[in-house]
Amino acid sequence: MIYFDHNATAPLHPGARQAWLEAAEKFIGNPSSPHRVGSRADAALEDARARLAKMIACHPHEIVWTSGATEANNQVMHHFAGTLPAASTICISAVEHPSIIETAAHYFGPRLRLIPVSRDGLVDLNWLADELAKGRTGLVGVMAANNVTGVHQPWEQILELCRRSDVPYFCDAVQWLGKEPASGLGACDFVSGCAHKVGGPRGVGFLKCNSQGAFKPLLFGGPQEESRRAGTENVAGVIAMVATFENRQRLMGEKESRLQRRDHFIGRLMTELPGAEIVGASQPRLWNTVAALLPEADCRQRWVVKLDKLGFAVSTGSACSSGKETPSPVLLAMGYAPEQAGRVLRFSSGWETDEKDWESLLAAIKEAARELRAVPA
Ligand code: PLP
Repeated sequence: MIYFDHNATAPLHPGARQAWLEAAEKFIGNPSSPHRVGSRADAALEDARARLAKMIACHPHEIVWTSGATEANNQVMHHFAGTLPAASTICISAVEHPSIIETAAHYFGPRLRLIPVSRDGLVDLNWLADELAKGRTGLVGVMAANNVTGVHQPWEQILELCRRSDVPYFCDAVQWLGKEPASGLGACDFVSGCAHKVGGPRGVGFLKCNSQGAFKPLLFGGPQEESRRAGTENVAGVIAMVATFENRQRLMGEKESRLQRRDHFIGRLMTELPGAEIVGASQPRLWNTVAALLPEADCRQRWVVKLDKLGFAVSTGSACSSGKETPSPVLLAMGYAPEQAGRVLRFSSGWETDEKDWESLLAAIKEAARELRAVPA
């Protein structure tokens, strides 16, 4: 099986496995226990916290370990639901992950304002500036890079806009971390991330939070994480996550060659599969992601099933909505018609994906197209 679904989850990287195994064997204590075995686990956890803080450039105290990004995203919404005045609104981009959009809708209902995006998936900065000028916004949430299209959002510019209006900025950096340079992210008030999109273990993540003011925890219980997140910390998971991020940061110099591989694939797909269209093509995007509208073939599940039979794991978009025959909400938000949004397939590679893998994927798509008798829409 050749794996092109890293944006859903990535295979465990050998370095992460080794870090996890070593930590699980070495740090057997509970970090909250007062004895030396506990203290050793606590010291390892704090070392990981300091390393992650250094990587994204924030204070270690601002990092809270979580069970993944869904929890971190829920935590942010929960915190603001409990601290913002009743008249405040929040602005979230229309292409956020469901763990943000659904949670924001749950907590804020009509006080949730969705920031529109262009056909290329870019948030409308003028709309946001106008909304901020109204003086009622209590939080802005825009992801660093989109999970379906890979489109980079101008998060540094958004941070700047928020700073000018004194509004906190929350950035979901799940798809950015480990693929793009991480430094600078720590300047955002809130940042969520997780390990498993770039080779770390599943079920572990973090929230970088602004240390000022009261914090409304989502989970109650013990005083772990300075009473911001109850529950025994996943010491080995955290250590493996930070080791994975560090490993990926060291590869940043190879980004250009990965981008070239992807773009070579795109170029050939466009010439060899009439009717294919790349989503967000004019924007800077993650080097590992291709979202393509493929020619008509009844429904996109058929493409996925056919490619699966040919030995390729690909996706219809967000894993949370795969298996459902609903059009991608991200593409709908970008202004694609439901019929078009229903034809999107996402190919997401990893650092280890090589040229031959992209070549074989192209050949498989062409074979699938023949078998599905795909025709341009
Ligand atoms: N945010 C984005 C952009 C994602 O792609 C995902 C994963 O699909 C999440 C949040 C949720 O992350 P986790 O699987 O760690 O809960």
